Amino acid sequence: MALFGKGVHPKGHKARTSGAEIGVCPAPRAAYVPLSQHIGAPAVPVVEAGERVLRGQLLAKKAEGLSANVYSPIAGTVKGVVGHIAGGGKKVGHILVESDGTDESVSLSPLPEITPESVLARVEEAGIVGMGGAGFPTAAKLNVSGRADILVVNGAECEPYITCDERIMLEYADELLQGVRRCMLACGAKSAVIGIEKNKPEAIALLSAKCGEGISVRALRTRYPQGAEKQLIYGCTGRVVPEGKLPVDAGVVVVNVHTALSVYRAVDLNIPCYERVMTISGGAAKKPGNFWVKNGTPLRELAALCEADENCARIVSGGPMMGEPVFSLKVCTTKTSSSLLFLDEGECESKVASVCIGCGRCVQACPMGLSPTFIEEALFRKDYAEAKRYGAPSCISCGCCSYVCPAKRFLAQSVKLAKKIIRERNI
Ligand code: SF4
Ligand code: SF4
Repeated sequence: MALFGKGVHPKGHKARTSGAEIGVCPAPRAAYVPLSQHIGAPAVPVVEAGERVLRGQLLAKKAEGLSANVYSPIAGTVKGVVGHIAGGGKKVGHILVESDGTDESVSLSPLPEITPESVLARVEEAGIVGMGGAGFPTAAKLNVSGRADILVVNGAECEPYITCDERIMLEYADELLQGVRRCMLACGAKSAVIGIEKNKPEAIALLSAKCGEGISVRALRTRYPQGAEKQLIYGCTGRVVPEGKLPVDAGVVVVNVHTALSVYRAVDLNIPCYERVMTISGGAAKKPGNFWVKNGTPLRELAALCEADENCARIVSGGPMMGEPVFSLKVCTTKTSSSLLFLDEGECESKVASVCIGCGRCVQACPMGLSPTFIEEALFRKDYAEAKRYGAPSCISCGCCSYVCPAKRFLAQSVKLAKKIIRERNI
């Protein structure tokens, strides 16, 4: 497996938002809070229509197995569980809360003592999930029964445009480091390495100066996808996660810097997970920046906040490499909404896909050592076993293949589809 001799170097576009302090997005008048903001089963509502709730009050309890609690981002009245459009374009269950304008809040009970068990229980209670975008419930990730000796903290932030993690590292360095210590305690890691791309020298200097015993900072080469899990682990520790295995099989647990900050807020400040920092950027946003945004905020309110052109060339949730197109600004933010981009014509690729010219650039770029063009061919022939032999299940959806392809083929989407079919049909 090629670990990271490959990848690409897209233009950063980070200067628009990296220099300004994190602002606060006004709370929505009506919050549509998704029951599913995480990997696993949707949470189960514990409130009823007509009930008054406070900011920080539990709205829905984690389901059996992999799932996460969901909290109210505002004080107001529950209008009920409604079907509302989500990121993928489907209507899914949301709890609609209408604000009463009071912003009255409630906290979690303070922990009587700090132990690995109490921290794990608090992370689960607070509904914390991987805030880098993956949405894997953090308590499940940290609960490794002593099988990890190193915690890797992802501050790479290799996607173009996105700077929320960089601002967190600069503005919440002490809190973030305390969150890292809490995560180390919970998973039993003896040391932690914070991986940061070299294009963030201020964050590297600040955290290096503050990190203290047991925690170190690793300056990583600026190359996409440096923040992908396996590439990050290799860059920070030199360890290789075997194909088909998890980081813990290499003795590692990975959390994102925003996740670590959320762990600090839950354990030390008793604040559950109902808001996050988001980057709003792109050439069609007149006032881009980073903002604390309540979960359940309609994207249209973020467009208004940043004076963005709603009719711009493309709106993307997440980064331009791995993000998803936004079909409706009625979609609301979740725990994993790291950014919203309003891109103008000059920032979008408008060429139409043409036939493969066999240049091999997609193979050279793939950080997982796959052959995207052959996987696409196998997909078109519906030969999914062949697609599997070419390694489709190892794809990390980084988008490097599509990015470099001179024929502008939708390679990443094809490989993603092949991977989905192989999994669903158990091929
Ligand atoms: S999207 Fe998948 S196939 Fe394409 S470069 Fe990334 S890992 Fe390789
Ligand atoms: S980069 Fe595009 S044109 Fe080149 S081999 Fe891959 S699919 Fe074909």
